[in-house]
Amino acid sequence: MNDQPLHPKEIYRVLPDAMISLADWDPRETRLALGSKDETREATNALNAHLEVLQELLYAENKHRILVVLQGMDTSGKDGTIRHVFEGVNPQGVRVISFKAPTTRELDHDFLWRIHQHTPGKGQITIFNRSHYEDILVVRVRNLVPREVWEKRYAHINAFEKTLVDEGTTILKFFLHISPEEQKERLQARLDDPTKHWKFNPADLKERKLWPDYIRAYEAVLSTTSTAWAPWFIIPADRKWYRNYLIASILVDTLKGLDMRYPQPVDDISGIVIE
Ligand code: AMP
Ligand code: MG
Repeated sequence: MNDQPLHPKEIYRVLPDAMISLADWDPRETRLALGSKDETREATNALNAHLEVLQELLYAENKHRILVVLQGMDTSGKDGTIRHVFEGVNPQGVRVISFKAPTTRELDHDFLWRIHQHTPGKGQITIFNRSHYEDILVVRVRNLVPREVWEKRYAHINAFEKTLVDEGTTILKFFLHISPEEQKERLQARLDDPTKHWKFNPADLKERKLWPDYIRAYEAVLSTTSTAWAPWFIIPADRKWYRNYLIASILVDTLKGLDMRYPQPVDDISGIVIE
């Protein structure tokens, strides 16, 4: 009998051959919550403390590289995830890269050119706030390049990520899944709260109108690019506290699985006396 509790890593992972229909994934559910909202928040704080220690070890060992990809609709909580899940982690070993619409110089190159140069080095965690996936999401929805060009990118992305993984990178990809109702509330909050006005971008309303197209584009991404080497996780993200708990759990579990060690000192230091 296996009475181990189910881990978010199993429940929310997209299996490589799955055909994803997002209608089957409820953005509001909280089925692995540890009791109440506050109890789950406490568990997240404990995970956060654990993440700090693991990140220190990752940095000291200077061997593994960690790439975290965050994708989701506007207001899905990409920034909030970074703020909460990585709170207290030593900034020296963590970098956040936010990908915006490409510059003309970036557009002069292939779509992975601007991505590759920001992948993590040894001992580092890099968080992509949006990513190369925009090149088969917004680019597909908005017809920014012809279909013949973007439809080849699924395979290119899988091959690119395989290269990174074969060379020592661990990749975790999180789709922050919110409902259109929740997005409406979050956009409204940006209008109502003067301290959130800066976040309100009228262009987000145009994207919101394309919701069904984005869902279709995300379904294609999730069904085609969740590989054995670089899995996607579909994170129910209407409840921020639950979203944070799931992502912190999956990160901590993954880092623990790397079996990291502090490096041995170069010389025998047992006889050293500091005068
Ligand atoms: P934000 O995340 O709110 O700062 O917005 C960044 C914007 O950049 C979003 O509207 C993205 O869709 C857009 N963006 C990011 N990457 C690309 C890309 N490769 N091509 C076109 N637009 C992009
Ligand atoms: Mg935005």
